[in-house]
Amino acid sequence: MKNSDRPSAPPSNAALAGEHWDVIIVGGGAAGLSAALILARARRRVLVLDTQQPRNRFAPHMHGVLSRDGYSPLDLVSDGYREVRAVGGVIAPERAVAAQAIADGFEVTTESGAVANGRRLVVATGARDRLPDIPGLAEQWGRGAVACPYCDGYEARGRRIGVLLGSVAGLHKAHMLRPYSEDITVFTALAGPLPEEERLLLEARDIRVEARLVAQVVSEGEELVALGLVDGTTVPVDVVFAEPALEPLDGPLRQLGVDRVATPLGEWTAVDALGRTSVAGVWAIGNAANPAALVPIAAGSGAAAALAINGEFIAEEVAAARRSIVEVPDDPSARTVEVAR
Ligand SMILES: Cc1cc2nc3c(=O)[nH]c(=O)nc-3n(C[C@H](O)[C@H](O)[C@H](O)COP(=O)(O)OP(=O)(O)OC[C@H]3O[C@@H](n4cnc5c(N)ncnc54)[C@H](O)[C@@H]3O)c2cc1C
Repeated sequence: MKNSDRPSAPPSNAALAGEHWDVIIVGGGAAGLSAALILARARRRVLVLDTQQPRNRFAPHMHGVLSRDGYSPLDLVSDGYREVRAVGGVIAPERAVAAQAIADGFEVTTESGAVANGRRLVVATGARDRLPDIPGLAEQWGRGAVACPYCDGYEARGRRIGVLLGSVAGLHKAHMLRPYSEDITVFTALAGPLPEEERLLLEARDIRVEARLVAQVVSEGEELVALGLVDGTTVPVDVVFAEPALEPLDGPLRQLGVDRVATPLGEWTAVDALGRTSVAGVWAIGNAANPAALVPIAAGSGAAAALAINGEFIAEEVAAARRSIVEVPDDPSARTVEVAR
């Protein structure tokens, strides 16, 4: 994040507590900022609490993001901060540690002790990648070692690709990478023995299988150059696609008791197409609700939720106005109504 975009004077705890926010958004990545931008532009009082650690912060460039292909993920976030603030959204560098339902919405407590309350709560906290414990891997994460063929497969075209398999299900990644390179090796030790049919499928697609355990990721300077095996052999590779365990950062959602649903990557918060959870007024967007939400999908889910939330506000406001309308009883010809004062 550019220093100029960091809040020079973050809102005080008193300022956070002094508003009844229309929407509190926990998490200011692509999903949360996209929701914040639309809601703030819709003249809603929006508070974003954000610890400024987007999942893709390790990568110098992001891909597959229309009009921002190759852009820095941290610059995307700082652009988003600026755009949200420009239309009146408030962003505080605070970690939400507790959330509970109150009479007119939700109360969120932050690590520094601030308490904010709002009519709606949007959880956009993203997810965390747990890398296998292989020396040298974390240092390459986001550069020589990546996760997603859609994000980094094109850049790996024609190169020597290693696939660090974490599970048999992860083999689809090796098959996805086949159009990019004729030199692919799948390192299977962490996933255990492959079913014979899977092994034959890889062979049929000219994808090599290496069953020996990977003991280290070998780099020269900044460049990843090989995977070192447990017996001392090194296998030259230019890029490694790993399969980290992905965990939703959904503490606030769990506290509120939202329903969960099984996915191939474990349990995730259940949401409808617009991001509504099972708890009225609580929304979940981006990776917090969808492990497959790449940046454009995360941003889109934030936009979809924002439109739906603002739609609810408008409906509530019109309903309140309707309740304030009284028929004019003594003039039957005039089928007009007047607003009660
Ligand atoms: C190495 C790597 C490279 C990637 N490359 C690409 C790519 O090229 N293209 C692409 O489309 N996708 C890419 N992705 C996926 C991308 O990271 C996600 O799609 C995106 O980050 C999801 O956005 P999000 O807003 O849901 O979550 P995030 O971007 O992770 O944002 C969540 C925000 O919430 C904050 N937060 C979390 N908990 C709290 C809390 N309790 N209180 C306050 N704030 C909190 C975090 O600090 C963070 O700022 C990549 C992922 C990785 C790991």
